[in-house]
Amino acid sequence: MSVKMQVFNSLTRRVEPLEPIAENTIRLYTCGPTVYNFAHIGNFRAYTFEDILRRVIQFNGMKVRQVMNLTDVDDKTIRGANAAGVALTDYTKTYKDAFFADLKTLNIQPAEVYPAATDHIPEMIALVEKLVEKGVAYKSDDGSVYFAVTKFPGYGKLAHIDFDHQRTGARCAADEYDKENVGDFALWKAWEESDGPVGWDSPWGRGRPGWHIECSAMSMKYLGATFDLHTGGIDNLFPHHENEIAQAEAATGKEFVKTWMHCAHLRVNGEKMSKSLGNFFTLRDLLDKGWTGREIRYVLVNAHYRQGLNFAFSALEDARKSLERIDRCVDALVARAKDEPAPEFAQKALDAFTAAVNDDLNIPKAFAALFDLVRETNASGTCSKAVLDVFQKMDTVLGVIFFGKAAKVEVPAEVQALLDARAAARAAKNWAESDRLRDEIAAAGWAVKDSKDGQSVTKK
Ligand code: AMP
Ligand code: ZN
Repeated sequence: MSVKMQVFNSLTRRVEPLEPIAENTIRLYTCGPTVYNFAHIGNFRAYTFEDILRRVIQFNGMKVRQVMNLTDVDDKTIRGANAAGVALTDYTKTYKDAFFADLKTLNIQPAEVYPAATDHIPEMIALVEKLVEKGVAYKSDDGSVYFAVTKFPGYGKLAHIDFDHQRTGARCAADEYDKENVGDFALWKAWEESDGPVGWDSPWGRGRPGWHIECSAMSMKYLGATFDLHTGGIDNLFPHHENEIAQAEAATGKEFVKTWMHCAHLRVNGEKMSKSLGNFFTLRDLLDKGWTGREIRYVLVNAHYRQGLNFAFSALEDARKSLERIDRCVDALVARAKDEPAPEFAQKALDAFTAAVNDDLNIPKAFAALFDLVRETNASGTCSKAVLDVFQKMDTVLGVIFFGKAAKVEVPAEVQALLDARAAARAAKNWAESDRLRDEIAAAGWAVKDSKDGQSVTKK
């Protein structure tokens, strides 16, 4: 069965096939974190969505070249560094490191390139210069440079907003008087007192790049003037992505990006989870409460990416139970898998899974196919290795199955101590002590099983 991968393109507002422009490779740019604090799980909804996206692309036999920027200079990072009295690079390093550790915890595949804004100031200056040369950008009296939105006819095409009627008289409404038009946005920001030691020399004087120019400059540097796919959270669509298009296309005269995808927000009590609203949990907050990266990943990915997802602890509890169900089935298969013919239901489940992920990343439906497979596997008592292969194939997209071995990682320390004691007792052929420890482990909620490879444990 062959079903082509289709996704919803925010630019055309249609579900369309995703086909590489060249070299069987999807060139993908994903807006990354502003490294001034720990990322919250709302941010990780965006990053897990992008992870699922890249995994589905690979599932379909295409390659991915993903670039994710690290915004390590902006108002927030500068304010944070200056308040802490440390250099900007030292301040952001803490959060960059934390970000990469969090990606690992959530089993998010690394991007191919993580360019940091501060390493690409010359590229950004060159792009701004080009825009000034082309007459679509202008310098204001204070040494900032703005993009003139009226000079780019396509402005508004991503957000599907017609800006023409808003332009007349807009100048009077602009409360930033340096701008010629209220919609104009900064490409380069002149140095201010509050920037302290942060700043770079440019043809317009000392200053720093605007946020939008960062993404246009770095995406084109690593992916070319025209590339396949660009994503972010829905809040990035306007003005950030609209401005990226304007900057890139005004500079090159070429189409910037073929397909744009945006994920809906993670909410808390109906509101966007965000730092400014103060209603956020970082990944670390949830780990401290005893939830695992795998359980959090499960909750974040198991909703359609274009639908709002309300965060609730009950969802984490459900995730724990669902994962235990998967573990029980898969671990049993791992223990007894044999070269037996594949049962018919395995291929059926894989086909349903494939159709679901290729239908604009319908992950809830994909999980339904996986649970059909769990149910039928349990009911049939099959030992076929081919069934395990299907679980493995599905997990290349989902990234939540432990396949026996890794499940041990999540055993609490006190249970692990009992297991170690039991292994020692068995090595000493002290069967009475081994049985006593088995009961103690059972009382702690874990079932221990022995095989020729030693003991393995599952949660009861
Ligand atoms: P920021 O660090 O604020 O630039 O955000 C980084 C990424 O997280 C962007 O793609 C945002 O669109 C996304 N994002 C921020 N808050 C949420 C949220 N509550 N739900 C989903 N995505 C979010
Ligand atoms: Zn961006």
